Amino acid sequence: MSAERHRDFEQRIDRRLAGAETGAASGEEARLLEEHLDSCAACAEYLSASQRAIAGLKGFSFAAGPGLNARVVAALQARAEAMEARRASVRRWVGLSVVAVVLTVLGTVVDLRVGHWAAGLLDLRAGKVQEGLMALWILPSFGLLLLFPLLPLLAAKRSREGRSI
Ligand SMILES: [Zn+2]
Repeated sequence: MSAERHRDFEQRIDRRLAGAETGAASGEEARLLEEHLDSCAACAEYLSASQRAIAGLKGFSFAAGPGLNARVVAALQARAEAMEARRASVRRWVGLSVVAVVLTVLGTVVDLRVGHWAAGLLDLRAGKVQEGLMALWILPSFGLLLLFPLLPLLAAKRSREGRSI
């Protein structure tokens, strides 16, 4: 029996399974197929596997129903939103870090200029004024800057500890 002929019978099986849905199957067609199925284990297995697949699909669509579909869709949406929120929090942290860097650099530049100006105006030694500004603005803002990269680490640590309790 050639592979060509088995494919022909597989198509007959497909038609029969489709016909079982619509109730349309000719007597001659059914008889030829039954004869072949009796003598061909491969095509009998093909019919059996196809019937199992169809039964499985029917069972699934029955068990799924609109309620499960809604739950699956809701779960997928929740996962998508969680991923979006994580991306947003990373973006927010990057944004804050950039703001901290800009503020520190700007503050330092402005402080040094103001320092020169104040030193000239008040006839103080520029070094003395800059020391004061260092203590008041530049060091605290650099300290804050160093803190920013630690915030996500601290948050992650806190959430890990929260889970373990
Ligand atoms: Zn066959």
